[in-house]
Amino acid sequence: MLALALLDFIILNIKSVDSRMSNSRKNESNIHEHNSRVKDHKPQGSDLTLKPDNLIPISVIDENPAFYQASDLIIDATQHNSAIRLIKGKFQRIRRWVSTPLIALFVLAPWLSLNDNPLLQMDLESRQLHLFGINFWPDDLLILLWVAMASAFALFAVASFAGRLWCGFTCPQTVWSMIFVWVEEHIEGSRNQRLKQKSGVSKLKSIGKSITKHSIWLALSFITGFTFVAFFETGPVLFQNLVTLNLQSDILFWLVFFTSLTYINAGWLREQVCLHMCPYSRFQSVMLDTKSLKVSYDVKRGEPRKFNSHTKETSTSENTGDCINCQLCVQVCPVGIDIRQGMQYACIDCGACIDACDDIMEKIQKPKGLIRFSNELNQHWTSLFKNRTRLLGYAVLTLVSILAFFYQVNYMESFDAHLNRDRGQLYFYSGEGNVQNAYSLKIHNKTNNNETYDLSIESFPPSSLEIASGTSVSIRQGERKVSTIILSCQAPCTLPKRSSFSLSVASTRGEMVVFESKFFNSSN
Ligand code: SF4
Ligand code: SF4
Repeated sequence: MLALALLDFIILNIKSVDSRMSNSRKNESNIHEHNSRVKDHKPQGSDLTLKPDNLIPISVIDENPAFYQASDLIIDATQHNSAIRLIKGKFQRIRRWVSTPLIALFVLAPWLSLNDNPLLQMDLESRQLHLFGINFWPDDLLILLWVAMASAFALFAVASFAGRLWCGFTCPQTVWSMIFVWVEEHIEGSRNQRLKQKSGVSKLKSIGKSITKHSIWLALSFITGFTFVAFFETGPVLFQNLVTLNLQSDILFWLVFFTSLTYINAGWLREQVCLHMCPYSRFQSVMLDTKSLKVSYDVKRGEPRKFNSHTKETSTSENTGDCINCQLCVQVCPVGIDIRQGMQYACIDCGACIDACDDIMEKIQKPKGLIRFSNELNQHWTSLFKNRTRLLGYAVLTLVSILAFFYQVNYMESFDAHLNRDRGQLYFYSGEGNVQNAYSLKIHNKTNNNETYDLSIESFPPSSLEIASGTSVSIRQGERKVSTIILSCQAPCTLPKRSSFSLSVASTRGEMVVFESKFFNSSN
């Protein structure tokens, strides 16, 4: 633990040196970029210039860029936010309401059961997926494709409607990172206190806090890793194996793997996962259109700012905008961007900057909504659903996929059966001289109960054939069984050389499978 805490300090110091170096590099290049923009600047309105093909277009904040410091004009402003400030507000409450039931479901699901089966479990040994009381076998995988399709289309619909809502409010990476930040803030203090610690003012004093923080992070990571593995083992079984130190080596490996992954992702990498690893952030922009909602800064209302961060002067002019340049919206941003610089692909639409700015607006007695969810056309929410063919298409496809899934689940069979002729011999004689044919009947009992299946035969003329091997087959829950079925034609058998019959296999639940096949007699 001590080693982890020391490692934390070393890496943070390296990061801070690196960040200072990269900022100075950025500033140099931005000053250059800024100068060239100022030179090219054509004051024709607020939505001009800066549209190189390889960049997301942004709106220029002011017609007089000289008012800002060079770093204000970074297009991709992604920087590591080394100390995220937690904020309270409407959107943070919404995230809690949405994520709390999801976290509860994630943590509790391996411990709960329904219809005598785990609520959610991927049972690799018996090759079954238990999903809310329904058992899926490998041959039911096509049904699960509907779930995958419904999830994908729902994600597309949400992205088309309001950008990265999934990322900001429900994505485990964001939710777990915010939990880890919450722990950090409660152990190490407010953002300012943490920044002081990181700048080395009271390093030794903070080592104890750092150890506590990392211990809690590791405990949370272990619970997460345990839960992941429990989806394959069930919670009670895994817990029992853990306390009796009876874990198999592969289980132990995955436990350590998922614990480490959570600790690294939520504790250290955080927004870097969203920025550099998540494929969803890369392709979601293609789903946006002019009516898609995004967290945006109201440039017309906010600019020019009261406080010039370049000259450190506060303007006394009455013509200043509502933004007081308090930087709170930047400090709370989990991905370290300044939303006032325009729409950026890194923004996960978490709404933290909205809550922060609304708080400030309330304090300075200005209307809320300087930063808000809005679209390029600045429409009222009632217009957001009009003429949205793509959004409608995604919604319809989501609905169709959900209905198709439930339709197929409703008609899922409780057993599978296959009948094959014994290819070794066409017919043979019993001790009594009856002509007999052999078949193999494979039945897979997909239910959670032991079942008995009744066999019956229809032949022409009626009753010319009978089942000599017994008219029922019992199979235990989840088992596959191959039974030999002997059909017999009593001597003297008058059937033709080749005659048709149908064999029915019926479950106690009333389901029936009927097979058509042939019975062979001697040529005499
Ligand atoms: S929180 Fe609002 S007032 Fe403060 S800097 Fe951001 S936009 Fe401006
Ligand atoms: S800019 Fe605002 S909405 Fe976007 S990620 Fe940062 S805090 Fe969240």
